[in-house]
Amino acid sequence: MRKPIIAGNWKMNKTASEAKAFAEAVKNAIPSNDAVDSVIGAPALFLETLVTEAKGTDLKIAAQNSYWENEGAFTGETSPAALADLGVDYVIIGHSERREYFHETDQEINKKAKAIFANNMTPILCCGESLETYEANQTADWIETQITAGLEGLTAEQVSAMVIAYEPIWAIGTGKSADATIADTICGVVRQTVEKLYGKEVSEAVRIQYGGSVKPENIAEYMAKENVDGALVGGASLQADSFLALLDAVK
Ligand code: PGA
Repeated sequence: MRKPIIAGNWKMNKTASEAKAFAEAVKNAIPSNDAVDSVIGAPALFLETLVTEAKGTDLKIAAQNSYWENEGAFTGETSPAALADLGVDYVIIGHSERREYFHETDQEINKKAKAIFANNMTPILCCGESLETYEANQTADWIETQITAGLEGLTAEQVSAMVIAYEPIWAIGTGKSADATIADTICGVVRQTVEKLYGKEVSEAVRIQYGGSVKPENIAEYMAKENVDGALVGGASLQADSFLALLDAVK
C-alpha cells in the first residue's frame, strides 16, 4: 500500500508574514502522517520560517527548486546542502514553469535529483505534456522520455522512495483539470516506465501524484484511481482552509 502524499506548491506567492500566518493556521490541524504525507512547497525565502513553525507537527516542507552543486560560484542559486541543513524534506524539480521560463533541461533536472538524494532529501520530479502534444496523442511517448531522462543513474532504492508528479501543462492553473481517468492512465504510463527501467517492485513502491487544477471538490475523484497516490496542488494550496480540506479528503 502506498501512502497518499498531498503537496501544496505555492509558486511565487505570499510574503514572509503571510507564510507564517498560514503555518500558524494549519499546524494544529495537520493529519497524522500514518495516513497521509502533508507537504507545503514554498519559496526559498520562507523555508526557514515554515520549518520552524512545522516542528513537532506532521507538516513537511518542500523547496520549489535547488541547484545541483552544494556550494560555489553560482550567484543566485540555492544549495541543496543548505536546504537540507534548514530541515527541508522535499524538493520539487522539473516543474513545467521552470522548464518553460527558465529553460531547464531533463539532464539538469536529473543532476538536481541526484544532488537532492545526496543530501538526504526527497525529490518530487514533475513531468507533463503541452496541449499540442496531448492533442497529437503523443503524451505517452513524451512522458516516457521525460521520466527516463529524469531518472537516469538513480538507484532502485532512490526511485522507490521518490515522488513523481504528472502535471499536464494544459491543466495547470487553468481550472481545466484532466479527467480522472486520463490522469490515471498517464500516471499508469509513468508507473510502466519505472517498471521497464527498475522492475515491478520499484514501480509498485514509487508514489505518483496528479497535478493540475486539483481542489477540495475534485481531489477524491483522483485519489480513487489506482495509479494516483496524491496530488501536487497550486492555487488550492494557498489558503489554509482549502489546504486542510484537501488533506481532509484524503486522510
Ligand atoms: P494548479 O497548479 O493546482 O494551480 O493548477 C498545479 C501546479 O502547477 O503544481
